[in-house]
Amino acid sequence: MENCIFCKIIGGEIPSPRLYEDDKMIVIRDIEPKAKLHYLCIPKTHFALLDEMDEEKSEILKYCFEKIAQIKDSLGLQDGYRIIINQGENGGQTVHHLHIHLLGGEVLGGF
Ligand code: 5GP
Ligand code: ZN
Repeated sequence: MENCIFCKIIGGEIPSPRLYEDDKMIVIRDIEPKAKLHYLCIPKTHFALLDEMDEEKSEILKYCFEKIAQIKDSLGLQDGYRIIINQGENGGQTVHHLHIHLLGGEVLGGF
């Protein structure tokens, strides 16, 4: 997708170290961390909203969640973590390529 910062990161156009990568997703550090550890799990398929989910995209997200559970220890999230998916304007979504925030490395405040 043109002009999508995460597609550019996935394509290597914008360099960003990958903590994990396979054919379906990457994990990078958030550039403006909101917790001691703050990662972004970004599916390689471009779509913005859960509204767009079909069978293929729901398989991709299922895969991402399963993979996050498998690699969490290697990311330093073994003591627990928070998952956030911002959706749309009121959700505070700023990058319109669906991504899963992983926050941890400390005890997070409630909300
Ligand atoms: P959203 O607000 O859409 O849920 O999350 C977008 C996140 O992407 C923000 O937390 C922001 O800090 C992060 N971000 C935006 N641009 C870049 C970038 O170029 N590199 C990295 N690593 N993170 C970015
Ligand atoms: Zn994209």
